[in-house]
Order: sequence, then structure tokens, then C-alpha cells
Amino acid sequence: MRKKIVAGNWKMNKDSIDSENLILDILKIYVESQTEMIIAPPFTNLSNAVKILKSSSIKIAAQNIHYADSGAYTGEISAKMLQSIGVENVIIGHSERRTYFNETNELIAKKVKSALENNMRVIFCFGEKIDDRSSGNQNIVVKKQITDALFNISESYWSNIVLAYEPVWAIGTGETASPQQAQEIHAYVRELIAENYSNSLSENVSILYGGSIKPNNARDIFSNQDVDGGLIGGASLNAKDFIDIFNAC
Ligand code: PEP
Repeated sequence: MRKKIVAGNWKMNKDSIDSENLILDILKIYVESQTEMIIAPPFTNLSNAVKILKSSSIKIAAQNIHYADSGAYTGEISAKMLQSIGVENVIIGHSERRTYFNETNELIAKKVKSALENNMRVIFCFGEKIDDRSSGNQNIVVKKQITDALFNISESYWSNIVLAYEPVWAIGTGETASPQQAQEIHAYVRELIAENYSNSLSENVSILYGGSIKPNNARDIFSNQDVDGGLIGGASLNAKDFIDIFNAC
């Protein structure tokens, strides 16, 4: 049975004190369940998060990596470095990185490969822009993003891949995909994985939805057959909201 996951992407928010306080606030009201919780603080707070959450079941993710293990890439951080401080998950392909940092499917593919080779689990984000949705091209866009970045990965690595469907028009906008729109894309992606690998692999991949999930809409989205949890942006910055979303999964 595939895993249910709720992950919080803190983006470029929370200095070290606020980060520690948020983690402590989450811990106060967190009750372990079958659903896995992941938090993704900024790089500067990762070491401390690892320390605080050492004996907790809450997992930690980075929000980005460089594709090389080391080298002359000023300002960058590698998967190998993150592994060395105990960070075992990384978000790759987020639309904000695609848009503001010009990350192409080709670059994202290299990052995915590096993360997997360094034994990190990848939370791979994909999703169409509003123009793609208005013109009915969402499946074409999503297929290309996934094909280019993931379909040359050998089957054995797929146990370390989690997918997150994040329609760009729903991120930080307050607009969510309807439960049907989310379900349609998730089911379509599962079909693609089955065609390229196998039914059993496809059935075992967790596919999260992300885009303006809040405590009041989480349950509706999570109740879809092919939605295995969520990637949460804004609402993950508030302990109670994040826990309410987590408990809805
Ligand atoms: C995100 O950035 O991954 C995200 C889903 O953001 P929000 O929940 O704020 O729309």
C-alpha cells in the first residue's frame, strides 16, 4: 500500500529562532499516524531541525540541490552535503524554481539523478500553468515534465520518488484545483507510470497534491482515490493549520 504524506514547504520563510519555535509548536500538537509528515525549512535551519527532530517521526526535506556532488558552484549546496547532515528528502522541480531560476526539465532531470544516487528521496513537483489549463493542454505539459525528468530513471530508484502535482495557477493564489481536476491528473500520471514501468510500481507511487491547501479544503482533496496527501506552502507556516491539514489526511 502506498504511503500517505503531508509535506510543508516553508520556502524562504522563518529565521533560525522562528524556525525552531515553529517546529516546537508542531511537536506540541503532533500525534503520530499512518501519514508521514515532512517539513522543508530553508537551508540555514536544516541542521537545527535535524537535531530537534532526531527522535521524532517527522522527516526533513531540503528545498533544492545542485546536481553536482561538489565543485566550483558558488552559493550552491549538493545532495551529498545534505546527506552528511542527515537530511534525506529534497523538493525538486518546484514551479517557483522553474519560473524564477529558469530551471528546465533537463536541469531538473540532473538534480533528480544526483539526489537518487545520493540516497535521497525526491519530492518531484510538476504542474501546468493557467494558459495550459485554459487551452486544455495540461496533460501534454505534465507528461513532458515527468517524461523528461523521470522516465529514464531505473525502476529500482522509484521507491525514493514521491510526486507532487502542483498546478501553477493554484500555488499561493488561494485558488485550488477542484477535487475532480486533481483526481484526473493524478490518475493520468498513474497511467503514464504504468505504461513506462508497471502497474505495481504505478500503484505504489505516492502522488501528493499542492496548491492552496488549507484546513477547510484539505479533506475534500485528500478523499480522492489517487491523491495520497499534500505539499503545503502558506498553511505550513502555522503549526495549528499544518497539523489540521495533516490530521485530515
Ligand atoms: C507550494 O508552494 O508548494 C504550495 C503548494 O504553496 P501554497 O500551499 O501556498 O499554494
